[in-house]
Amino acid sequence: QPPSYPYAAPASEAWFERASAVIPGGVNSPVRAFRSVGGTPRFMASATGPYLTDVDGREYVDLVCSWGPMILGHQHPTVLEAVHEASRRGFSYGTPSENEVLLAEAIVNRVEPVEQVRLVSSGTEATMSALRLARGFTGRSVVVKFAGCYHGHVDALLAHAGSGVATFALPDSAGVPASSAGETIVLPYNDVRALEETFARRGDEVAAVITEAAPGNMGMVPPAPGFTAALRRTTREHGALLISDEVMTGFRASAAGWYGLEGPTVHGSPDLFTFGKVMGGGFPAAAFGGRRDVMAHLAPSGPVYQAGTLSGNPVATAAGLATLRGCTPAVYERLEQAAHAIADGVTAELSAVGVAHTIQWAGSMFSVFFREGPVLSYADAQGQDTAAFGRFFHSMLSQGVHLPPSAYECWFVSAAHDDAAVDRVLAALPAAARAASAE
Ligand code: PMP
Repeated sequence: QPPSYPYAAPASEAWFERASAVIPGGVNSPVRAFRSVGGTPRFMASATGPYLTDVDGREYVDLVCSWGPMILGHQHPTVLEAVHEASRRGFSYGTPSENEVLLAEAIVNRVEPVEQVRLVSSGTEATMSALRLARGFTGRSVVVKFAGCYHGHVDALLAHAGSGVATFALPDSAGVPASSAGETIVLPYNDVRALEETFARRGDEVAAVITEAAPGNMGMVPPAPGFTAALRRTTREHGALLISDEVMTGFRASAAGWYGLEGPTVHGSPDLFTFGKVMGGGFPAAAFGGRRDVMAHLAPSGPVYQAGTLSGNPVATAAGLATLRGCTPAVYERLEQAAHAIADGVTAELSAVGVAHTIQWAGSMFSVFFREGPVLSYADAQGQDTAAFGRFFHSMLSQGVHLPPSAYECWFVSAAHDDAAVDRVLAALPAAARAASAE
């Protein structure tokens, strides 16, 4: 029997009110605010394994996993020990340190086309810097991105972005100068013809195409067969770079991210990659990297400037390194098992009450769309019944399962999601499906 909580969350409500006085919207990242599903975001007090505990003392099965990083579960013993050990030796040196090298090697060893990486502190920094590098390398300024792909809150990449931008139905962000947005071309995802037409007209102005390796920020919309190959072929023909954003998929979709699943089947690798989330193990660490000749354009060896006070932070790199080392084949196997058990349950229960839905995958990553499939683009994803998702979300929450508070996000599991945690999710599904079906 799943726990059924009284819906009120008085301690979270009190904190949210205090937060809203001093923090815009009460949150430090918009999707956390429950705006699209309504209600009060839960303030978490602690997390262990697959569970979160909020300030009202309620426990939830965590299907957010910090939006991806917590692949081994919360407070995994070896990661915790690595963090303790690193922090006893100092928090930040402002000089090179050993773990930076070890983490860079761990990335280079896992993702075959990546010859060098530069460490940064967030996925946003990684994509921002990769764009600057691509522009510096090619001497061109135009960037092509795809609607529904989110690459962090970089000016040039906020147009028709996924994640919170999708959740709040914003076409763009205010505050992005036209000069910056004007250098960005937004195309529909999975549309080879739109890509080829754009390159036929403006190919010689394009510095880079940036894409999520398998987009997970409009829900999970993996590339249709041949799409990644078309990106590679078209960019190469026109002298533009291909940037694969693996901030979300990196080290999660497989040990080598989405590249590990699809890369070898595509003729040619991306020139640059961006990483984040898993490689920081829950701490602020991210990276961009790729071809050695391109990376050589970065300062101090080259003319493209990029820097960071906390880049390669010794505690964050220790957490990231311990996490990557902990990602054994058994971990990926467990992610698959847990994800499929949950997804099968969702399909069974939503089908039983006649709620239209489809589940899409990239490795062990998945999302549930509240509409019939297939979903191939952002326009498709926008056809969801977000109200049904909202009812489903709140029923799950009231039964102790914390889903991402938006229909446009992937559900994340960890290797710590054991049978007991999965069973708690499964037990909550029938009531949530009924709630979703009730107008
Ligand atoms: N790229 C992708 C694919 C992402 O999913 C995200 C974050 N969800 C980012 C970039 C930005 O990363 P960060 O939030 O660490 O800035």
